[in-house]
Order: sequence, then C-alpha cells, then structure tokens
Amino acid sequence: MALRATGRSTCDPSLPQAPWAIDRQPGYGPGASTIDRAPVDAPRQGPLPERYTSATDAELDSWISAARETLGPRVRILGHFYQRDEIVRYADFVGDSFMLAQAAKGSPEAEAFVFCGVHFMAETADILSGADQAVILPNLAAGCSMADMATIDQVEACWRELMAALGETGADGRQSVIPVTYMNSSAAIKAFCGRNGGIVCTSSNARTVLEWAFERGQRVVFFPDQHLGRNTARAMGVDERQMPLWRPHLPLGGNTEQQLRDARVILWNGFCSVHKRFTVAQIEQARADHPGVRVIVHPECPAEVVDAADGAGSTEYIRQEVERAAPGSVIAVGTEINLVNRLQQQRPDVTIFCLDPVVCPCSTMYRIHPAYLAWTLESLLAGATPNRITVPAGVADASRVALERMLAAKP
Ligand code: SF4
Repeated sequence: MALRATGRSTCDPSLPQAPWAIDRQPGYGPGASTIDRAPVDAPRQGPLPERYTSATDAELDSWISAARETLGPRVRILGHFYQRDEIVRYADFVGDSFMLAQAAKGSPEAEAFVFCGVHFMAETADILSGADQAVILPNLAAGCSMADMATIDQVEACWRELMAALGETGADGRQSVIPVTYMNSSAAIKAFCGRNGGIVCTSSNARTVLEWAFERGQRVVFFPDQHLGRNTARAMGVDERQMPLWRPHLPLGGNTEQQLRDARVILWNGFCSVHKRFTVAQIEQARADHPGVRVIVHPECPAEVVDAADGAGSTEYIRQEVERAAPGSVIAVGTEINLVNRLQQQRPDVTIFCLDPVVCPCSTMYRIHPAYLAWTLESLLAGATPNRITVPAGVADASRVALERMLAAKP
C-alpha cells in the first residue's frame, strides 16, 4: 500500500517506502516534516513482526477485518482526517484530534481505543477517556513535528523569563500573561496551562479562547503554532507589532523587555510543516488556471496565504464549505492532501484540488500503515496491549483543567 499513483510529483522520493523501513532512524521520515529536527528522545517503534511486513494488502485487509469483527465494541478505532484512506476505511470514528478525544470520552463500553493519529492526540484521548480504558498508538514513531517544537522544559524556561520581566500580575490586578496552547501540544504543556491560569484551544475556537484569555490577562503567550496565533489575533484586530515571536533558544525569546511589555500575543516560534508549504504563488496559479475558483485554507498557513485566500478555517470549516458548494464549482484547498482527496471523493460534482501541486503528506501521520493496525488488533486479540499511551495522573488532572476551561469558554 504505497502512496497512490496520481501522476503528480512527490516531495520526497522515499515516500513510497514502508514506514517500518525507517521507524528506527532518527528524524520524522519522508513527507512534509522531513527537514524538521525530531527530539533525540522521540519515541521509536520497535520492529514489526515479519508476518505483517511481508503481508499483501489483501492479507492485511482480511486480518484487520477479522480482528475487528471478533473484538467488536470492546475496541474502537479512531481515525484522524489526515490518515490515508487505507486506514480511515476501518475507523469507527473519523475526525480531528478533539472530536476523536470526545468520541473516546463518549464510548464507556470500549476497553481500548486504537488511535490512528499522532502522539499528542492519543495523549488527549487518554486524558479524556476512563482510567481503565487503554489508548494505543499503532506506531510510536507517529509524533508531530509542530508539537515537538515546544518542549515542557522550554515552555517553563520561557515562563520564568516572562515572570521575571513582567511580574505575575499587572497594575490592574489581572494576570500579566495567560498561557494558551493549541490542542497540538504535549499533555505536559496542556497541564502547564492548567496550572498557570491558562487554557487550550482548537483551530475552531481559537478566537473564543483568546477572548477568554484577554478578559483575564494583559497578554497571551501562545504555544506552539505561531500561524494560528497570529491569524486569530489579526482577525481580532490585534496589531502585528504587538505579536513578538518567542524563539526558545534566545534570551527573552529574542525580544526586548519593552517589546514583551507592549505585546498582546507572544507567539511561540512553532509551525506545521504541512501547512507552511502553502504559498501566495500557489493561490495566484490556482486563480489563473481556474477563473472563479474559491480558495480556502487552514489557519495553520502563513498570514499572507490566509490574506490571499477567500476563506480560512478549521478542518470542520473546510468540510462545511465543501458540503455547501454548488455543483460544478471549483475549490482549491490549502490543507493536508489525504483530506483534500477524500473531500473530492465525497463531492464528485465539485472540482476540489490541493493548492500544493506536489504530493506531500504529513510525514508522521503517514507512519500509521495497515500493517501496524493489523499487528495492534491481533495483539489485542491475543490479550496484549501494545504501545499504550498513558499520561501520568498529575499531568492528566492539570490538563483536564485547561481543557475544561476551553469547553466552558463561550463566544
Ligand atoms: S499536519 Fe502538522 S500539526 Fe498535524 S500532525 Fe502533521 S505536522 Fe503535526
């Protein structure tokens, strides 16, 4: 089950390689995150038994289907929107990271969840599901390069510097800084926000969450995606000069104390390598090739791309835009290729294409291959629980505080 032949060029010639050929190598592997630096302590997947690595697609399909059938509702498969079709077809729930974590929360009958996504998502599902329910990541090498751009040590060091420079509270008695983290971050950072009067956001509710934070604090420090933070704050009318970038390896993040005092949103220097690929030139090309095309992009794209598009929003927004599109219309989408291709399959009466002419999936999502799913399900059948993701109780409790603040925040 290599990358489907589309006739389009790919960003990495080793993309069709089987994930188990690269799982034990450092780095994220082929795909959009190839050039990102993986943390040295990033989990590595152990060897996959030969039964799975040498199986044909048909064998894997029959093993997965049979194991699913026998396991029944005891095991639920959660599939992220960005997973390949060969995985999504087996999913009991398909959604974004938060929708899937909520699906886990709403499935008390399940003993285990096989989370076909990346590490931080499995952590969130573990936080929200019951203590006796196991959350399994079929391939431990499926991290997220954006989440890895902010480690808890870096975040705590940043916080110490901010507190030293700005104090804990401002003259008006409000917190000087409210920490806000995107769902795409480690449980440790969510817990940090929970402990420090902060909150979590998704790409759907980032504006509501920033409004919540501005009511309670003088400014926000936003982890780890600078683009979602910047795009959301700009849409709220915040001046870009009041959004300094925090570079974790520099004193004060590379800013002066005055810049931090003047800031409204301090942006962590993180990004998604999938969404960073989209450019204004691609949008101009799409408009030249398809007069009347509607261009919609994800807010993890750079601000100039969001400005040049006709609309920007979360995956759910993109799905709804496609659902509402008139037959015969043309939509260019700036988000992950597997999702774009699936939207096209769902609306054959609309022309939908990815803005990026090069096929370049998320390299860590790509690590979940049917061979891992078959191995995971057959291991469960045999009574084993491989690759369980467990968030320590103290971290889970503090993360839940930040997640519950998000759920309670109202526009
Ligand atoms: S698409 Fe971007 S944010 Fe999502 S898992 Fe991949 S690298 Fe992380």
